[in-house]
Amino acid sequence: MSDYIFSPQPQAIADIHGDDRSFPVRRIFCVGRNYAAHAREMGFDDREPPFFFTKPADALVKTGAHIPYPPITSNFHYEIELVLGIGKDGANIPVDKAFDHIWGAGVGIDFTRRDQQIAHREKGRPWDWGKAFDNSAPLAPMLAMSDVPDAQKDLSKGRIWLSVNDEIKQDACLSDLTWNVSEIIAFCSQSVTLKRGDLIFTGTPSGVGAVVAGDVIKGGIEGLGEIEITLTEAG
Ligand code: MN
Repeated sequence: MSDYIFSPQPQAIADIHGDDRSFPVRRIFCVGRNYAAHAREMGFDDREPPFFFTKPADALVKTGAHIPYPPITSNFHYEIELVLGIGKDGANIPVDKAFDHIWGAGVGIDFTRRDQQIAHREKGRPWDWGKAFDNSAPLAPMLAMSDVPDAQKDLSKGRIWLSVNDEIKQDACLSDLTWNVSEIIAFCSQSVTLKRGDLIFTGTPSGVGAVVAGDVIKGGIEGLGEIEITLTEAG
């Protein structure tokens, strides 16, 4: 057995609602423009195949966290999202088998340095500096699918919302998803082999906007829980 030259960083984890154990996180995939109204507010057609970007697993933060306003941005945006936790490996997963690969679901925020994302996009450069940075992936405790209420069991209905300082900014329904959760998993697994521990952020509804230090950001999905993050002065 070989030794490491220094101690590895701790395993990234997500909390689980009603369980002291954790969900060990492998990778974070995110879907772009998966609600028609959000695609339109970003200036795009509302129907195109799903596309993906990623965040590092150590960008996860827990609900209740106070996080500093991030560097290299003056247009820092919230995006409330349904998050899937993958519990079964698979490549080229058929749509009608995809739901079996979901271990659980939760409420997350895809924090975005919108000015960086747009500047890089316009130059044909990667989105990473707009999307994949420290504290960019808040995630509330996830529910195992067995604990998801019957009314939300297929992850295709239920209110999804976000407020800033208790003013509602995003308010939609999971039925507004352009590509449903099974289709997202099927598409993603055509390009990569999904593994247990992978998370998929499934896109945000319309109403995205900027937040500043001092703002309290709350969000939720009917039946799946709520999340709260407080933004503090730049670190
Ligand atoms: Mn997003």
